Amino acid sequence: MKFSKFYAPTTKEAPKDATLPSHVFLVRGGFIEQNGAGLYNYLPLAQRVLNKIEAVIREEMQSAGALEMKFSAVTNADLWKQSGRYAVYGKELLRFRDRKDNDFVISPTNEESAVATMRGKLTSYKDMPKNIYQINTKFRDEARPRFGILRGREFIMKDAYSFHANDEDLKREFDLMEATYTKIFTRLGLNFRAVAADSGAIGGSGSKEFMVLAQNGEDDIFCCEDCSYAANVEAAKRALKTTNAQAPEASADKFYTPNTKTIKDIAEFFKVDEFYTIKAVIKKAIYEDTQKIVVFFVRGNDELQEVKAQNACGALELVDASDEEISAAGIVAGFCGPVGLKGVEFFIDAELKGQSQMICGANEKDYHFVGVSVSSFNDDRFKDIASVSVGDRCPECGGRLELSKGIEVGHIFQLGDKYSKAMNATFLDENGKAKPYIMGCYGIGVSRLMAVMIEQSHDERGCVWSKECAPFEAVIILSNFKDERASEFSSKLYEDAKNIGIDVLYDDRNERFGVKMNDFELIGCPYSIVVGKGLENGKVELICRDKLIKTEIEASGALEALKAKLC
Ligand code: ATP
Ligand code: MG
Repeated sequence: MKFSKFYAPTTKEAPKDATLPSHVFLVRGGFIEQNGAGLYNYLPLAQRVLNKIEAVIREEMQSAGALEMKFSAVTNADLWKQSGRYAVYGKELLRFRDRKDNDFVISPTNEESAVATMRGKLTSYKDMPKNIYQINTKFRDEARPRFGILRGREFIMKDAYSFHANDEDLKREFDLMEATYTKIFTRLGLNFRAVAADSGAIGGSGSKEFMVLAQNGEDDIFCCEDCSYAANVEAAKRALKTTNAQAPEASADKFYTPNTKTIKDIAEFFKVDEFYTIKAVIKKAIYEDTQKIVVFFVRGNDELQEVKAQNACGALELVDASDEEISAAGIVAGFCGPVGLKGVEFFIDAELKGQSQMICGANEKDYHFVGVSVSSFNDDRFKDIASVSVGDRCPECGGRLELSKGIEVGHIFQLGDKYSKAMNATFLDENGKAKPYIMGCYGIGVSRLMAVMIEQSHDERGCVWSKECAPFEAVIILSNFKDERASEFSSKLYEDAKNIGIDVLYDDRNERFGVKMNDFELIGCPYSIVVGKGLENGKVELICRDKLIKTEIEASGALEALKAKLC
């Protein structure tokens, strides 16, 4: 491609609201332009990058046996009514009516479409498994679209849906998709982790998010310093916490403990480590048609993880309980403990199960129990509800857990029969019995990936693309447009490079060298050959965009040099 024929409107101006490098450089580099809040046009440079990202995704999905298709982006709202999501999806779902007053949505995701496509057609267990996918436009009316195409309202997603006759087969496909995503993100040159995620709202039994580790990420994830364990803060686990501190000695005796309402007070009162205390966190749990007070007990030096807690009690939301609500529930604030607690729903952190020599509230003003064993409770009271903290130990290898920032680029779910059951999509199993499909779904944020790559790889001058996804692999820069010899040499080098399959841009524009160089640095293609004055002595310059390393090379070896780097 000749730059003189290309369209890449580069600019010095960054958008006023652009705070992230990817946003700044994709706009300044002429990749994208804004068209409204969270709406972007992908200009030719961006389209080239998207094509390359999509090609990697297609290749790996196809080699995993998934079938590409395309759903209409506009979906009949009836399908969303059948699944029940029309009522609960909220304002992110863009709903509208056509001229005949029928309800429609612009798909934010396509579980309903996928079920409807297969319903009545995959009728036997013999027809399964099937995995269908598309790369298509999505729309979510995000409350705060931001960071350019990282969080747009319209964006491009690769979404896949798989159909199975049983859970084991779903698990097999889920593992295959995890391996496939690992291949995709590795090929795209990303520093990522597959993290255990909370799959609360979407349902299903297992879910993993693929997080690219990036300073500007919005998600918090714990990563082990020694092994590949990583998890979202809401789903993080750890090896059992231990201490060298001395345990208090008593056998479930009740002590008079005036003015000891906090964990700190009680630890000081008994001169013990907070490790040996039990903290009560009292919340009001909101359900669809009711609300109630729920108490969560965690170790004194732990915090409650609210998402885990919400999953534990199955509430739609947890809010703080007022003093009045707490006493109305019969709870003695400051002295609440699991032993003898009556008439209130409560859960105990699973790590406390079987722990002895603990101190907890006696459910009586100014009294605590000391030397309690946490053993005489039903198993279903014990749930993982404590927050993991920095420095806790990895559940897999015992290494130190560190907190990192991540950007979600992919998400894989074991959905089970959530959608097929609601939409009455069944098949006949080996015994001729009708059963709902067992499903998985697997998403990748294709347009987000383009921004993530720049978040991970840029410098103060612009983008630094990997050769796999760069809009062009190399740029030949003719430094002086009027120099005929240089022009002739550049044209020939351009043709030769094209002929051996290099994706090359020839900057033949009638522009100053400085302008061409700035554009090369801003757009960020991996290599450049600068054809300038040195040609008189048979030399050209090879520039490697990463770290801007410049080497003078023989002009006659320029093609070979590119070939060595790119082919
Ligand atoms: P997030 O937590 O970032 O809002 P999500 O969990 O809602 O994402 P999914 O429903 O799992 O997203 O969608 C699959 C993928 O689509 C995500 O992993 C992400 O990469 C991408 N994606 C989701 N929302 C957006 C958006 N507003 N703009 C760009 N990409 C998005
Ligand atoms: Mg997600």
